[in-house]
Amino acid sequence: MPEGDTVARQCRILHDALAGAVLTACDLRVPRAATTDLLGWTVREVRPRGKHLLMRLDPPTPGPGPLTLHSHLMMDGIWHVDGTPLRSSDTSAGPRPAHTIRVALTARHHDGHETRAIAYDVKQVRLVPTADEHTLVGHLGPDLLDPDWDADPGLRERAVRNLGAEPERPIGLALLDQRLLAGIGNIYRSELCFLARIHPAVPVSAAGDLGRIVDLAHRLLRLNSDRAVRVTTGGMMGRDGDLWVYGRGGRPCRRCRARIVRGELGDPRLEGTAPRVLWFCPRCQDGSGMPGREPVHGGARARRRDR
Ligand SMILES: [Zn+2]
Repeated sequence: MPEGDTVARQCRILHDALAGAVLTACDLRVPRAATTDLLGWTVREVRPRGKHLLMRLDPPTPGPGPLTLHSHLMMDGIWHVDGTPLRSSDTSAGPRPAHTIRVALTARHHDGHETRAIAYDVKQVRLVPTADEHTLVGHLGPDLLDPDWDADPGLRERAVRNLGAEPERPIGLALLDQRLLAGIGNIYRSELCFLARIHPAVPVSAAGDLGRIVDLAHRLLRLNSDRAVRVTTGGMMGRDGDLWVYGRGGRPCRRCRARIVRGELGDPRLEGTAPRVLWFCPRCQDGSGMPGREPVHGGARARRRDR
């Protein structure tokens, strides 16, 4: 599952490749948008919101308001620009079969140069008036990669407050809930819990300083949104040393040498499949008796999934 940093990076590359260009071909291979004619529309910008990608389009003539082409990378969606996959450590960068194409755009720049952008396996492709974007992403909590994060302390405050809203909920589940704060996926929840020395099954109320966790998440996502390979260890661990615990089950902890444990912690309320695997160090992340090796399921209260 791509995380906020991956989405932000793909958006930035798409923005640089397409902003200001006019669509000369547009193929939306999803039933509800397939008949929409976007020829002549101009790509104004491509922006992330949490793990959602928003491509904003201006009409060729005054009249209709701007539109937003929305998509979500979900488990393994990826965009290619002029045949080059926007690589990420989450997704296979190899060739994708044509039948997995969901969006195919060609856009012409002022100098006549054309760029082709293709989205494979993306989900939730929708076209809405830009004024109605909130119907698609309005449920999301503060975006850890919001450009206003530093200027607007209210974003951080709200993220911290949201994270603590359900004190009994395991921190490893709350971190994944995009309605509380947007951008953290399965990799970061494992890495953040390790860095904060918290067992992922510990209730939010016992997880210590939530502000510190939010700050750490913001810093890591921003750092990695500029890089093709995600690193949480500071890059000092040598080859194959990018992450502390994620995907390292049975291998020695980089801090204390104890064996990293693979566990499961999921919530049917959250996007993706539940339970979802995670990794932690049983020594560095003392759970004070929490059953980390056993699958731990969150509450089954029916809520809208973050889609
Ligand atoms: Zn350890």
